[in-house]
Amino acid sequence: MLAETDVVIVGGGLAGLAAARRLHRAGVPWRLLEAGSRLGGRVATDAVDGYLIDRGFQVLNTAYPRLGTLLDTDRLDLGYFTSGVLVRKGDDLLRLVNPLREPTGGPRTALAGVGSLLDRLRFAALATGCATLPASRLLSAPETSAEMALGRAGLSDAFIEELLRPFLSGVLIDRELATSSHVLAMVLRSFARGRIGLPAEGMAALPRAVADPLPADLIALDAPVAEVAPCRVRTQAGDIRCRAVVVAVDPPAAAALLPALATVRMHSYTTYYHSAPEPPLTEPILLVDGDRRETVANTVVLSNAAPTYAPTGRHLVATSVVGPTAPSEPAVRAELTRLYGRSTADWTHLTTVAVPDALPAAPPPQGRLRKPVTLGEGLFVAGDHRDSPSIQGALTSGWRAAGAVLAELRAG
Ligand SMILES: Cc1cc2nc3c(=O)[nH]c(=O)nc-3n(C[C@H](O)[C@H](O)[C@H](O)COP(=O)(O)OP(=O)(O)OC[C@H]3O[C@@H](n4cnc5c(N)ncnc54)[C@H](O)[C@@H]3O)c2cc1C
Repeated sequence: MLAETDVVIVGGGLAGLAAARRLHRAGVPWRLLEAGSRLGGRVATDAVDGYLIDRGFQVLNTAYPRLGTLLDTDRLDLGYFTSGVLVRKGDDLLRLVNPLREPTGGPRTALAGVGSLLDRLRFAALATGCATLPASRLLSAPETSAEMALGRAGLSDAFIEELLRPFLSGVLIDRELATSSHVLAMVLRSFARGRIGLPAEGMAALPRAVADPLPADLIALDAPVAEVAPCRVRTQAGDIRCRAVVVAVDPPAAAALLPALATVRMHSYTTYYHSAPEPPLTEPILLVDGDRRETVANTVVLSNAAPTYAPTGRHLVATSVVGPTAPSEPAVRAELTRLYGRSTADWTHLTTVAVPDALPAAPPPQGRLRKPVTLGEGLFVAGDHRDSPSIQGALTSGWRAAGAVLAELRAG
C-alpha cells in the first residue's frame, strides 16, 4: 500500500507533537505515526485504584519558554510545590526556599546547618545570575561539568554534597553531575523563574493538551515505523511516500532508525510509589538526603501539591532513585522512615516504576544546546537529545525541526 502526504512525523512524544502543531498551523499536510498505544512518550500517567501514577516522578516547570506557544498552562489546573527543598541532616529537617518565589520563607531561607553563610550567598548569586542574564550569555560562557561549575562558583564540599548533589542528581538524573554546566545553568534559570507543578489529571495531561488542537485522523497509534529513507517511511501497513520525514523518537530508537546519528547514553530513574494514611509532611515540598547515604535521590508527597493524585483519605508519596541499580522496596522504605523521621509501617507499597532510558546524558560540550535537526535529503530529527534533556528541550526540538521542514519545503 502506498500512501502520500507532505511530512511524516515518526513518534508521538512531546517533540513529535510540537512538530505536528507547527506544521498544522502552517497548513502543510502531515501525518504522525506513534509506535505505542498512547501519545506522550515518556510523559505518561496510569490511573490505578484512585491514584495517579506518573511514569516516574516528573514535574512541569511553568518557566519553560516553549510552553506558552503550545498550551494554556492554566487549563492544566496545576497543583504547585513549594519553590524550595527540605534537607534531612541527622535529627534536623532543614528548609531552603527561593526568596523570589516564596517571600514568606524569610529567614528560613538561610538553611542554617548546610554549608556556610558564604555558600548560601554564593549560591544565591549563581542562581540569580542564571535567572537574570540573557540565555545567550549563559550558553556562551566557558563550559564544563555541572560538578566543576559548582566548585568554581566557590561552593564548599559540604554544600554540594549535602544539598546540591542530592537535589540536582534527581533533576538531571545524574549522580556524578557530569552533565554540562550549560544544562545546569538552564535548569537553575527555570527553577528561579518558574513554579513547579503537577496537572490535576496527571502529567499525561501535558501531551494531551499539546495534541488537543490536532485532528485525530492524522495521528496513527500502534503504528511503529520500521525504516525511514529520503521521501519514504516503512510501516507494517506499507510505505508512505512524502517530501520530508521528522524522526521524533526516543534516543535509542533514533539511533536504530538513523544509524548515522551519534549514540546517546541514557540515564535511568526508578520511582517507588507508596500510599500513606497520614501525610508524613503537610507541605508540598521535595525532601532530599543531606546525610550522604546516596540511596534515595528525593522523596515527595505528591498529593500535598495535587490532591487528585490520591483517593480521599489517602496520600501518595513518590520516592526516586537515580541509576541502573534499584534497591529493594524494603531498603527504600527504611530510608523513608529515616528521611521523614516517622514510622512508615502503615504505608502500602503501590508500585515501582523503573524507566531505564529516562533521560539522555548531556555531558560537555553541549554548546548552545541546539544540535542540528536537518540531516539532509528530506530527513529531520527531533527529541530531547537535540536540545536540553527536558520537557522544554523536547518541545523546542520539535518546533525547530518543523521550522526547518517548512523552510525546505518553501525553498523547494
Ligand atoms: C522518569 C522521568 C522523569 C522526568 N522528569 C522530568 C522533569 O521533571 N522535567 C522535565 O522537564 N523533564 C523530565 N523528564 C524528561 C522528559 O519527560 C523528556 O525529556 C521528554 O518527554 C522527551 O520527549 P521526546 O518527545 O523527545 O521523546 P519521547 O517522550 O521518548 O517520545 C518518543 C516517542 O516515539 C515513539 N517511538 C519510538 N520508536 C518509534 C518508531 N519506530 N515508530 C513510531 N514511534 C516510535 C515512542 O513510543 C514515544 O512515544 C523526565 C523523564 C522521565 C522518564
